[in-house]
Amino acid sequence: ETAEVPPMPWFGMDIGGSLTKLVYFEPMDIPPDEQDLEVETLKNIRRYLTNNSAYGNTGHRDAHLQMNGVYIGGRKGILHFIRFPTSEMPNFLDLAKSKGMATLASTVCATGGGAYKFEQQFLNEVNMTLHKFDELDSLIRGMEFIEGYCSSECYYWENPKDDDKCRKVTFDFSRPYPFMVVNVGSGVSILVVTGAGKFRRVTGTSLGGGTFLGLCCLLTGCTSFEEAIKLAAKGDSTKVDKLVKDIYGGDYSKFGLNGDLVASSFGQMNLEERREAVSKEDLAKATLVTITNNIGSITRMCALTEGIERVVFVGNFLRVNTISMKLLSYAMEYWSGGALRALFLEHEGYFGAVGCLLELMR
Ligand code: ADP
Repeated sequence: ETAEVPPMPWFGMDIGGSLTKLVYFEPMDIPPDEQDLEVETLKNIRRYLTNNSAYGNTGHRDAHLQMNGVYIGGRKGILHFIRFPTSEMPNFLDLAKSKGMATLASTVCATGGGAYKFEQQFLNEVNMTLHKFDELDSLIRGMEFIEGYCSSECYYWENPKDDDKCRKVTFDFSRPYPFMVVNVGSGVSILVVTGAGKFRRVTGTSLGGGTFLGLCCLLTGCTSFEEAIKLAAKGDSTKVDKLVKDIYGGDYSKFGLNGDLVASSFGQMNLEERREAVSKEDLAKATLVTITNNIGSITRMCALTEGIERVVFVGNFLRVNTISMKLLSYAMEYWSGGALRALFLEHEGYFGAVGCLLELMR
């Protein structure tokens, strides 16, 4: 009954501007006879990928995202989610080579700019043919698949502004259309999805996750995303930004602008004494708030123009980044008078890679 499925190993790969996302399908239904026939290399690769959660210094398996009992290509197995910085691609290729990948002559579906950039290297060094697939098609495909599998994939933040009452709530996304997708990776893409596999890209902005990390490294001397987020969590952006009340001495009532709103991001930093009074943490927080609010306001304008009420934010910018999720939730709600809802997905940055894996089965 399993028609024409490709030989294992089955991977989907999304080689992005910052991170490479790898989704690996581990078959759990290998009959004993097939197990004996399975080549040693394939077994080794499976053992290596599934027994470790760290690969070298920079590769990670997100074990908390693992999905058991998944059916793909007529097989039952486990989906594993692995990521590493795209800048480490040469090391990844060396590793794959050392594990004997080249002897398997496999085909991998790949998306993201790196599928083009590294195509020749994959072929030359590990004998892997990259079947290239569009990144936004993959993203939507992956989202639809995962959402169909995990009933608690989609959630929102209740009371996003109130630290005590704020909580994560599951959202029933089984009848999703129409909705907007805001993919916050290195840059940002905004899509409108009107039906199964039916979408268009509305707009985007180059001020995205890469901008946050780049600026944060410049301003604070931090060296990783995790560090940048940790700094931001301890910072106070109002020491950096110029607020409405810094200009008006209070609210700008005529147009309903609360005194605590940011009037000018980084607007205090032209003054030397203000610069001397801010910490790395404050600067990290201000950078995070600036980038997040800009994405929020572009999103809101799009939602208004398109007449859409549900917005799903994805991409690795949201990884371990509850600050931005809560800010976006609040901003969507506040500026739309409660009409707009910000939604999030557990597998935040992996949908493109999942969509690729599915494409491999076609
Ligand atoms: P891309 O496909 O452009 O690489 P992603 O969806 O993978 O996009 O998101 C990349 C962004 O995610 C980075 O710009 C950064 O803001 C954030 N990020 C989260 N975790 C990491 C990490 N471990 N290393 C680098 N960037 C990270």
